[in-house]
Amino acid sequence: MSKFFSDKYKELTPYTPGEQPVDMQYIKLNTNESPFPPPASVVEAIKAEGAKAHLYSDPTCKKFVAKVAEVYGVKPTQVIAVNGSDEVLNFAFMAFCDKATPAVFPDITYGFYSVFAQLNGVPYKTIPLKEDFSVDYRDYLHVNATVFIANPNAPTGMQLSLDEIEQIAKSNPDNVVVIDEAYVDFGGESAVKLVDAYENLLVTQTFSKSRSLAGARLGIGIGSEKLIADLHTLRYSTNPYNVNRMTLAGGYQALCETEYYQNAVRTVVENREYTAAALKNLGFDVLPSKTNFLFVKTPLVAGETLYKKLKEKGVLVRHFTADRIKEFCRVTIGSKAQMVAFLQKVEEILAEEKNEKGTN
Ligand SMILES: *Cc1c(COP(=O)(O)O)cnc(C)c1O
Repeated sequence: MSKFFSDKYKELTPYTPGEQPVDMQYIKLNTNESPFPPPASVVEAIKAEGAKAHLYSDPTCKKFVAKVAEVYGVKPTQVIAVNGSDEVLNFAFMAFCDKATPAVFPDITYGFYSVFAQLNGVPYKTIPLKEDFSVDYRDYLHVNATVFIANPNAPTGMQLSLDEIEQIAKSNPDNVVVIDEAYVDFGGESAVKLVDAYENLLVTQTFSKSRSLAGARLGIGIGSEKLIADLHTLRYSTNPYNVNRMTLAGGYQALCETEYYQNAVRTVVENREYTAAALKNLGFDVLPSKTNFLFVKTPLVAGETLYKKLKEKGVLVRHFTADRIKEFCRVTIGSKAQMVAFLQKVEEILAEEKNEKGTN
């Protein structure tokens, strides 16, 4: 740290992104990307737009936003386009939280929430998940705080029903309720259909997971016109060109490729069910997942050991050190071939552990 770094950030612990190794060919099951590249038309749209890279992008993101509005059945004024949904989440902490209005979210959830709270000097409270790792919606009724809930939740993969989300929004009319739907396309139910009824509801989605555009950085926020106007104020006060023109073109085209993405999502869900069943057969505990990942543990190998041994064998998964979940690994669902290879490595590790324990 330099002597120039502002005191207000001295205690800040930044978010730790999943490993993005460039050194060797790993089977990459650690950051919940899609195993499938974007469709050819999306790649073409991105390439073509590159010829106009000398010109700023459209700060209103008009064409993309209009398409989002059409696809999601809302007005363009209810949509904000952002540089990955992390950006709109940060804007929400800036816009809707302060000393008098703290943030509240589950103890086990997306790691960025506590980072954004710290970054913005926002006090926050965490509420423990239930014993079975589900969110109890009753914990979020009348909370007098800005609510952040990933639904389905990460890294557990479990979800609240739309009815439960509605209860939370309804019981907190004076506070914003942010529903982070990064994984909703893999089997969740979107709260976008509630935004007209609840002016305090903000729904965020990303193109990084189901739409194969993690590297393009594209997300959206959908809510009431007034909430979205607040977010635009912050966007125009930080970076009006937050979404670059290649990404806007690719995102627009992605919204035209419904069938491609439906097939991709269906394949991921099939591979998820296949992998979950296989892991259960091997004695794993597998949380019920509505996402493109599984959160799993086994009494036979410690979470950290499994992560390390898989890495030695060329498979990357994600391990978290928080006490409650340190026995788990989060495994992104890839292609069938990737999952078959992953399961084979898991079997090898289980056999090795058994031998080591046997000889001690
Ligand atoms: C991946 C993810 C995001 C953010 O994704 P972006 O790449 O910034 O769009 C947000 N919330 C959760 C829970 C995620 O897993």
